[in-house]
Amino acid sequence: MGAAGHVRDGAVAVVDGRIAAVDGYAAIAARFPGLPVLGDGGGIITPGFVSCHGHFSEGLVTGIGETHTLWEWFVHVVEPIEAHLTREMAFVGTVLKATEMALSGVTTVGDMFCSAPGRSPVTPGIVDALDVVGVRGDVSFGPADVPHDRSIDAIVAEHHALAQAAAASRRTRFRVGLATIPASSDALLAATRSLLAETDRLHVHLHEVREEVTASRTSRGASSIEVAARLGLLDAQTVAAHCVWLSDDDVALLRRHAVAVAHCPVSNMILASGVCQVPRLLRDAVPVGLGVDGAASNDSQNMLETVKAAALLQKVHHQQADVLTAPAVLRMATLGGARALGLDDTVGSLDVGKAADLVLFAEASPSMAFVHDPYQAVVYCAGTRDIAGVWVDGERIVADARILTADLPAILPRARELAVELATRAGLASELAIT
Ligand SMILES: [Zn+2]
Repeated sequence: MGAAGHVRDGAVAVVDGRIAAVDGYAAIAARFPGLPVLGDGGGIITPGFVSCHGHFSEGLVTGIGETHTLWEWFVHVVEPIEAHLTREMAFVGTVLKATEMALSGVTTVGDMFCSAPGRSPVTPGIVDALDVVGVRGDVSFGPADVPHDRSIDAIVAEHHALAQAAAASRRTRFRVGLATIPASSDALLAATRSLLAETDRLHVHLHEVREEVTASRTSRGASSIEVAARLGLLDAQTVAAHCVWLSDDDVALLRRHAVAVAHCPVSNMILASGVCQVPRLLRDAVPVGLGVDGAASNDSQNMLETVKAAALLQKVHHQQADVLTAPAVLRMATLGGARALGLDDTVGSLDVGKAADLVLFAEASPSMAFVHDPYQAVVYCAGTRDIAGVWVDGERIVADARILTADLPAILPRARELAVELATRAGLASELAIT
């Protein structure tokens, strides 16, 4: 994904957490004789994956509600938990889900935490958790105040608490978030515009389902994208989740405002939302990255599944095998995602000077024992068990498919307790197939 393209018999030299060289192994070994050598000589090194959209707020509600479409799922599964999330739940849920992502090669995660703002901030819990796991974060709080009226002051306070926590973190930065345009009052849209004057980055859902476009046209006389553009919200560096239902005018607006799309194929399929027109967006020079989406609508956080599903969904939808190829999908999962988050000067490719965010796929596994085409091997053959190492800023956080940073034996029992507590308080029992 860097200037060098793919390098056979290659190696990446890492010095002080940055990529110092990308070249053939012999040249690297000669130039950096003192560096320890990792890898077995037959694996594949890729840039760390960037998941540009998800919800750590769903970290404790996985595997519920498969029979719902998006709006039903929101009413029955997600909305009921929003008022019951605590900072500890945010921390524990994020440790679990960020670990799951790291084990599938994710080194940068874009997130939108959706909760009802209460008396004390909840979202700093996700920053604490990302500091523990060690993945890079681009985090936001995603408020809504329609149909449930919520205090704008409390919403702004939650944004500020998250921004403050991120500013003090190891690798996480803050972005302004907004759930959707139809779920926002005019006052919330105005407050969001004001927040963008402080932090010129926005994370928002746009046109995930047809109902959203209909609701926006009914209440405001224009699509959500048109409303957001008119209010100046898209003037910020914007990552928009989904963008499944787009008119030609919508696409033109995305392009004009350089809005990046976070494509989430697995949740789009689970919730039967529709098929994002990825080949068309790429043709029209709209930046596209991939997201695992939240743990309540995927329901895994496995980026390798998302990478493979992104290719398969377009192939079957277009009934055309070459409509989206492995190199194109891998590009969306790395450099495309980095561009979507405005982080492509730091991560997304194996280029000298960028952060050493790397994934090493091992040779010694049944699925990767031989490699004819490295792109197809990663997109179609690899599983998380094949990931021998993940590094962020040169710090190893995964070794041989095990997380090195988070203390899972300590956190798993607490996660079980909190998951039961949250489901009970939110009244989710009726959503379970087994009760
Ligand atoms: Zn989402």
